[in-house]
Amino acid sequence: MARYTDSVCRLCRREGSKLFLKGERCYTDKCAIERRNYPPGQHGQARSKFSEYAVQLREKQKVKRMYGLLEDQFRRYFELAERQKGITGENLLILLEQRLDNMAYRMGFATSRAEARQLVRHGHLRVDGKKVDIPSYRVKPGQVVSIRERSRTVARILEALEQAERRGIPDWLEIQKESFSARVKALPTRAELTMPINEKLVVELYSK
Ligand code: SF4
Repeated sequence: MARYTDSVCRLCRREGSKLFLKGERCYTDKCAIERRNYPPGQHGQARSKFSEYAVQLREKQKVKRMYGLLEDQFRRYFELAERQKGITGENLLILLEQRLDNMAYRMGFATSRAEARQLVRHGHLRVDGKKVDIPSYRVKPGQVVSIRERSRTVARILEALEQAERRGIPDWLEIQKESFSARVKALPTRAELTMPINEKLVVELYSK
């Protein structure tokens, strides 16, 4: 599978927005967006005027990169969102939030979605007590995601939990600290997803 191997901070700088790809560093003044908030490369500081298409494209790239997806995967989520009842853009964001790697990140088991994906892939997670190692697994309301028993002493997980506690866990999740688990009380509403995303631009782009 194709993989992006360059500095992930360049992606944030390209989108002009924090995508929170690097864990704790994203919350410090070492963040590249705090220091150099302009696109990377030789012409990064040159002023440029964006066409309507370019604005829509950048927004789509931003969301895709935030959740660590490739174009085909992202497109499939969009098509699924389109087939669902309701507002396509909101459906899309909620589908992305339901991914197991995202849930593990939101629950505080990892400091970034990339780290959460690795946790899932390496079999550290259980969903309703059963092993699930597919990052795209769709977690539903009522389900409980937990860290398998023998992984509960892994330093990275303990550190991630500590950091998450400081930052706060979303209201739609119920954390059970003693059992290293979290229950999805409900799917998030659009208002609860506070990342700076204009999903309407993504819908406009794909509807062309
Ligand atoms: Fe993006 Fe985090 Fe790097 Fe800041 S530190 S530029 S938020 S990945």
